[in-house]
Amino acid sequence: MLMNPNELNKTLSKLPLGEIKYFESIGSTNDEALAWAANDAKDLSLVIADEQTAGRGRLDRKWFTPPDTALAFSLILRPTEDERPHLPRIVGLAALAVTDALKARRLTPQIKWPNDVLVLGHKVAGILVESVWSGEDIDCVVIGVGINVLKGSVPPEEVLNFPATSLEDELGYPPDRMEVLFEFLDNLITLRPRLSTDEFLNRWAESLAFLGEQVQVELGDQPPVLGQLLGLESDGSLRLRDGHDKTVAVRFGDVRLRPLT
Ligand code: ATP
Repeated sequence: MLMNPNELNKTLSKLPLGEIKYFESIGSTNDEALAWAANDAKDLSLVIADEQTAGRGRLDRKWFTPPDTALAFSLILRPTEDERPHLPRIVGLAALAVTDALKARRLTPQIKWPNDVLVLGHKVAGILVESVWSGEDIDCVVIGVGINVLKGSVPPEEVLNFPATSLEDELGYPPDRMEVLFEFLDNLITLRPRLSTDEFLNRWAESLAFLGEQVQVELGDQPPVLGQLLGLESDGSLRLRDGHDKTVAVRFGDVRLRPLT
């Protein structure tokens, strides 16, 4: 069933959001949100679409959002002065808002650093954080989120290089998209004031997939880094112990995390 914009507005009116733009179909919610953010969007404004025809993952990889089945939205944050030093943590904030919504449904989600959420080793959600700059400073952050809610949202296997699933597949019943959206936003708003704390960083690190395990991080055209996944640095970089017992930090960028098989 298509999303009902009246129901959307009514459900979300309980949250302290900015404005909401709903599209039955759109290229990419992040593109729309970036343009709006560069203009006059208020903090916590939301772009949401029933379908994306050109949804993006990182590095212009494609994110698949067929109609009527998934959640695809972009939330605009205007960071406060206190938040500015911690902007690299925003991807963790969004990932934890997803995992908390899934835990409330008794699933056991994990975060595949830096930007995916897994359930039992299958990707159920992806996050794409992008920024609007004003000179040297970040003016706005756009948090793009795609969640596979119903079975039909899972892309065909041949387009995937990591296994995927949906909430419906994992739960055994079709959850309500609007409820999942509400919970994500509510969780994010609740967690946001803790962004700078060690408690936040620890929660994020504890939620990582492959913690303590041997992993491989593919780094674009450079040789991959192999090591034991130890946790996170303060800026959200991934901390590994390499084969020489040395601690190395891997930054966000053209990276792909894989278990070492
Ligand atoms: P990987 O997941 O392979 O480590 P990545 O983290 O760089 O790579 P993302 O940018 O998070 O990938 O997402 C893009 C990739 O996710 C696509 O290349 C595609 O394989 C896969 N994908 C696209 N749409 C979906 C979806 N709805 N559910 C699960 N996976 C998807």
